[in-house]
Amino acid sequence: MKKTGFIWDESYFWHQTGQGALNSGSGGWIQADTHAENPETKRRVKNLLDRSRFIKELHQIEPRAATRKEVEMNHDQTYLNCLKELSDAGGGDAGEHAIVGPDSYEIALLSAGGALTAVDAVMKNEVQNAYTLTRPPGHHAEYETGMGFCLMNNVAIAAKYAREAYGLKRIRILDWDVHHGNGTESAFRSDKDVLFISIHQENIFPKNRGGISYTGEAGGEGYTVNIELPAGTGNEGYLQTFDKVIEPIVNQYQPELILISAGQDPSRFDPLGRMLMTAGGFYDMAARMKVLAENHCNGRLVALHEGGYSTAYVPFCTLRVLEALSGKQSGVEDPFDQGYHEGPFYQNQAEAIHKVIEIQKQYWEL
Ligand SMILES: [Zn+2]
Repeated sequence: MKKTGFIWDESYFWHQTGQGALNSGSGGWIQADTHAENPETKRRVKNLLDRSRFIKELHQIEPRAATRKEVEMNHDQTYLNCLKELSDAGGGDAGEHAIVGPDSYEIALLSAGGALTAVDAVMKNEVQNAYTLTRPPGHHAEYETGMGFCLMNNVAIAAKYAREAYGLKRIRILDWDVHHGNGTESAFRSDKDVLFISIHQENIFPKNRGGISYTGEAGGEGYTVNIELPAGTGNEGYLQTFDKVIEPIVNQYQPELILISAGQDPSRFDPLGRMLMTAGGFYDMAARMKVLAENHCNGRLVALHEGGYSTAYVPFCTLRVLEALSGKQSGVEDPFDQGYHEGPFYQNQAEAIHKVIEIQKQYWEL
């Protein structure tokens, strides 16, 4: 049995975002460019897997579309109707920077369905873990609005589906996208069945979300862990959060399934983030997640692609994630590994991690 499932569909690359506000001609002074969230980064992930033949190490699975009822577990009917109307009409904005193109509604159902396909494959032991190259991404999408290039919240829908279909009581989501996973946080803010941990650049997008002092509410207080890091944090800062915060908390929570919102935009070449992670850093994060899954839930882990906007570097970062999950090596070297240092570990990064620990000590032994 190949251990790692890989799920994608050609139509994921057909979701059209046009010449959006980001990367377009600023104020009319420079030539318009394609929108930052365009198909290229994700298509090139697939290209690299093919070109390197690493795809042969993975078990490819076709995604099914999510049903309307399944996405209604996490989204308001009126919002979904609006999304469908915009999509049928050829496009529009379904919220805040939530670009809809022709057929985006159907593609979003297939993107969410790819997440559900991955959950089924892992829960039924067809594979040990799985990666879905979801597009459109999902983690910013709220119950009643799209946001930040996200239309349907793939990871939240996957967690709710896993709970419903398999009766799971403890699901753990790690969101390493450089932006805060606000939509996922909202979905589980008062819910202790889902432990949500987001590690992100401080106050970047959305503004005023993801502050470390927000820890959930009502019955879910203590089950939201926000880790804000200052711009310029690289591999060492990220891995220290695993040592000092993420691993101790997950060991105490003992999840039955691990989901990852895998945004490769903390990379050092990302145009929308200001972090300094290398492809090797992504390997280390994924490898540590795999160990946590092996220790607590028979290796059951599903990673869903979120952001990542460097057309050159996202493919290499994602390849490393897949290498770590599968335990196989591609033999492809990081072509950007020379001449760029991931940056020093500054005191302000250590202080940011220390502040998170002080807050989380209320709930966990750290
Ligand atoms: Zn992002």
